[in-house]
Amino acid sequence: MTYTKCPNCSKSVTGVFGGSMIEQSKTDYINSQLGQTKEGYCSNCSYDLLNEIAVSLKNQKDQIEQRLQKIIHSIPLMTSPAPANWDYEVIGMITAQTTSGTGFLTELSRDFNDFFGTSSNTSSRKVEAATRICKADLRVQCVRLGGNAIISTDIDFSEIGSGSSNMLMVCMAGTAIKVKELANINEDRKNSILEVIELTQKLEAITKVRV
Ligand SMILES: [Zn+2]
Repeated sequence: MTYTKCPNCSKSVTGVFGGSMIEQSKTDYINSQLGQTKEGYCSNCSYDLLNEIAVSLKNQKDQIEQRLQKIIHSIPLMTSPAPANWDYEVIGMITAQTTSGTGFLTELSRDFNDFFGTSSNTSSRKVEAATRICKADLRVQCVRLGGNAIISTDIDFSEIGSGSSNMLMVCMAGTAIKVKELANINEDRKNSILEVIELTQKLEAITKVRV
């Protein structure tokens, strides 16, 4: 269809100084995101609308990520095989790695602490943080693959380099599985697991959106 005026903002869409109508796919996108049924939008009014959508999606994404960070740990992650009463299918192996630099100061403070026979706060905190990131990474991967638990997980810590340029590496590998009935898991946790799965799907849908 050819318009002389934009059906949304009524600005002229003909001539050198007029705007132009945007593609149908973009119109459909704006309508679906904003719950509108407009016939079309022009290059003038679509700009702000697309911006508005982008801001709203960004906010949604931030909120989902914050919530996920809080509940991602509800996805079971164990070093043992699956409990005998779990009915599950194997999805496959997943791995995660984190490398963190332990710079000069850390190295020094660790030596210093070792001297007194206490473990260094700084390096153990780094190990802890790296471990946490790996665990979260495995859980997210598992859920994105359609799983809801990780079994037979193995953790490896290693130091790369020597002297003051030491890097710490944490590697984890596990088997993502899909448990059919989450027996042995209490209601609250089950709900959290379902929420993680739902939020991950929403996040994937949001990040997939391209205009
Ligand atoms: Zn317009």
